[in-house]
Amino acid sequence: MKVFEEKKGNIFKILSESISEGIVIVNEMQEIVTSNEAADRMFGYAAGELLGENMNILIPREYRNSHTKQVDEFMEKSDPRQMGHGLDLYGRRKDGSTFPVEAGLNPFEIYGSRYVMALVTDITVRKNHELEIVELNSQLEQKIEIRTQALSQTVKELKEEVTKRQEAEYKMKESLRKERELNELKTKFLSLVSHEFKTPLTSILIAATLAGKYTETDQQDKREKHLKTIQNKVKYLNNILNDFLSIERLESGKATYKFDIFPLSKVINEVIYNANMLLKDGQKINYPTNIDAITLNFDEKILELSLTNLINNAIKYSSEHTTIDVAVSFKNNFLTIKISDEGMGIPQKEQKFIFNRYFRAANALLDQGTGIGLNIVKGHLENLGGTITFKSEENKGSTFTISFPTNTNND
Ligand code: ADP
Repeated sequence: MKVFEEKKGNIFKILSESISEGIVIVNEMQEIVTSNEAADRMFGYAAGELLGENMNILIPREYRNSHTKQVDEFMEKSDPRQMGHGLDLYGRRKDGSTFPVEAGLNPFEIYGSRYVMALVTDITVRKNHELEIVELNSQLEQKIEIRTQALSQTVKELKEEVTKRQEAEYKMKESLRKERELNELKTKFLSLVSHEFKTPLTSILIAATLAGKYTETDQQDKREKHLKTIQNKVKYLNNILNDFLSIERLESGKATYKFDIFPLSKVINEVIYNANMLLKDGQKINYPTNIDAITLNFDEKILELSLTNLINNAIKYSSEHTTIDVAVSFKNNFLTIKISDEGMGIPQKEQKFIFNRYFRAANALLDQGTGIGLNIVKGHLENLGGTITFKSEENKGSTFTISFPTNTNND
């Protein structure tokens, strides 16, 4: 140590004092043999105070072990290198406080002894800047995050607004369409009433006039014949009116349903009893055989309306001396009723229109009708989770099948 100090002291002093980094040189024993002014100031020592001290004095306690090991390795390998790559290094001041440093180690040999020169830079300011930058970055990221969230919220709200408007527009168009349809319906109703009501009303008038002519007591059967005609025609008109009311309700979305528990036979008997009055000469209706035990939980009025429409059509579109079959089956809580006739059938190319409102097939035009019965039956059944389908062959006959769910278990 003495040799080094004596011989190179002055040169070293001149060189080292002009450098802004701290220079600390340690010998093999890791004793400080010299330090420049910058190093003394950095670590808070007076000039010369560090001489002879172990270099550990400059290192915070928690780093000492690893540091000493590194210096030892240096001594052996003798290649200069930057210390603590990727690590945070700290120096320890005389007052015990610590500060971040960057250190480069340069081993060298002189007069047979080995030394390590440490070039130390106080990087407190840089570290603070780095921390500030990290802090600013994270603040910026937070801001971006908040703004992004706000933006996506706005986008979401806008989308909802657009959807609401579209829905409102759709509803408006829909109610406009319904209004138009109802107006159309009223016009249609008036023209239908004038056509469809004319013939039955004339028949009623004639039958009533004729009945009035039979004044004798023993002419009761003749009176009854005319009274039956009157009943029939009134029923027919009543059915048309019911159908129109149904359309109006279906169209305005006001169709309400009432579920009741009732025996299937009650409705079938009623419908067939009424239909019997309409039968042509030699026509007959085959009752379903297996329905006595079946109880339904369904809208009784809708079932009656559906069956009335289908059975009356079967009678109307079949000729004299034909048979109409009514068959019932029950499976998986679905009741299926098939009504088959041996009538005129529906022409193949018109079958796809048969459920359209007011549609009447070409071969049916000579019979009275409005073309609304099937349409409303389909509307009601579908509202109640049911279906209506048919199979038909011209001049052979048709089978209409309705099927709907009912909660009672009759399997
Ligand atoms: P309407 O009988 O009053 O014309 P519907 O809606 O009940 O109205 O029937 C629509 C059309 O379907 C009828 O005009 C007829 O062309 C056809 N149709 C319905 N049922 C039968 C049937 N059983 N046989 C032949 N054609 C039928």
